[in-house]
Amino acid sequence: MHLFRHRCVRHQIAPNHPLAGKVVYIPAMAEGSVEIFASVFRWLGIEAYPTPPSDARTRELGNKYTSGDECYPAKITVGDFLKIIEGRSFDSARAVFLMPTADGPCRFGQYVPFISRVLQDIGYGDVQILSPHGERGYSDMGEFGVPFVRATWRALASADILRKLLLQTRPYETVSGAADLAFQESVRDFCQTLESSCFDYDCQLKALVAALVRARSRFRGIAARYDRETPLIGVVGEIFCRLNSFSNDDLVRRLESFGAECWMSDITEWIAYTNQEEVRDFRLTGRAFSPGMLRSKLRSHIQRADMKALLVPFREDFGGCEEPEIEELIDLATPYLPYPGAEGEMVVSIGKSAYFAKHGADGIVDISPFTCMNGIVSEAIYPKLSQDYGGIPIRNFYFDSTQSDLDRDLEIHLELTHSYRQKKRYQRHYPSHFPTGYCVPLHLAEADPNHNKPGSDKPTRGVR
Ligand code: SF4
Repeated sequence: MHLFRHRCVRHQIAPNHPLAGKVVYIPAMAEGSVEIFASVFRWLGIEAYPTPPSDARTRELGNKYTSGDECYPAKITVGDFLKIIEGRSFDSARAVFLMPTADGPCRFGQYVPFISRVLQDIGYGDVQILSPHGERGYSDMGEFGVPFVRATWRALASADILRKLLLQTRPYETVSGAADLAFQESVRDFCQTLESSCFDYDCQLKALVAALVRARSRFRGIAARYDRETPLIGVVGEIFCRLNSFSNDDLVRRLESFGAECWMSDITEWIAYTNQEEVRDFRLTGRAFSPGMLRSKLRSHIQRADMKALLVPFREDFGGCEEPEIEELIDLATPYLPYPGAEGEMVVSIGKSAYFAKHGADGIVDISPFTCMNGIVSEAIYPKLSQDYGGIPIRNFYFDSTQSDLDRDLEIHLELTHSYRQKKRYQRHYPSHFPTGYCVPLHLAEADPNHNKPGSDKPTRGVR
């Protein structure tokens, strides 16, 4: 008998909160992640939406208000914000544009001043910019800062899981569009679950895990023909360009259309890296024993525990393609970019490329904006990394909306992956839904001689 019955509680911002009555627009960096992130704001009673899908007008506006020195993601982001301003229902007194910022070695820290200047120039200097910072976090959220940050982590980690399910299913689906549909339904379901979830951390976690289990069932139900001959391509590079299919001309889908499966570096990997960087800064600046260091350590600890809990239902599905801890990536990058001297996305791209190679990837692509410092440094290191890992093909793709003959370059890259497969040193460990070759249980082999047989045209999962 339960002496204390749990009662779900909801808390929302008070009418005098700075974000009460506002509408937050969030740059649509990654499909699924942005919708789920918006639902965290709505959980607290704050109206929030992703920016509408990028299109030719995005580029037009981005080009109009940039000088050419800005990074491509800055152009896309400003173009999307300006499209919202063009909308008939735009209300500058209510609008809030979300644009995170950071200190660091590259131009990301300039995005907020750049966007503010553009807004001033066009007469919309009154539009508020919500700008969370690595160290300050979401202090603008006031008393809800801590629950907001924790729910955001859970939201982004779950979106990463859904994207992983999508990418590992879509290349093998036998009914075109089935995996995309399952992804969209799962994102919707997850948003609704999060928005109505309890303020108690354990209770919320249970509800989110249940939503992920429902997503798992949707994906497991998709008729798919898994094939061990499909090359696996690791995808690294600059976070926005890599995840934003508009910026990268849908490179992942193109790779899939040429018969590849992609393993994409996810968003939470970058957040874990920035946490690690914060710890490094505390040490380098003599603050190893400080309240900030304690906060940082505690946050990382809690985030790892949450991630572990969210991943429990996926042990089987993600077997062989588990994501590494950030320390492992930094260790793998250190021979090329000595720690703690080097920092930034290049460290993560190099470390993850080595990790992909060690986990049986057949090739790697690095997606970066044109002139991106991280992409350029990584490109200089890849030949040595490839040599160290048995000649794995690694190819940089730079984007600035003028990419030419992408398909030809991808085809060449895939040709190289096919030759690398014949000699590769590190073999892939396949998740259990891949056919096991000729080890078919007798009762299934008798019922269906083609069950799970490589080369069979029957689905190997989803439809029995
Ligand atoms: S990572 Fe590259 S694209 Fe992104 S802000 Fe830095 S320099 Fe620009």
